[in-house]
Amino acid sequence: MNCLICVGAARRIQCSGPWEERDCPECGRYRISDELILSMINEGEIFDINRTRHWLEIQRMRVAIPSIEMSEALLVT
Ligand SMILES: [Zn+2]
Repeated sequence: MNCLICVGAARRIQCSGPWEERDCPECGRYRISDELILSMINEGEIFDINRTRHWLEIQRMRVAIPSIEMSEALLVT
């Protein structure tokens, strides 16, 4: 499995619900909503790697596993 942010090798974590969860050595552990993944594929968009990693770091001060949803569209270029 590849990381959905940096496309490096990452571990896929089984999770329930409309999410994909990954544990990446570079980006850490995170979830992305299926809705956002589909939208990005359709639009040919990718994550801004630095901005997304920074966003995840901030989120981890509050939650163990940050979830990236459609409303985080500014992370996408
Ligand atoms: Zn990564």
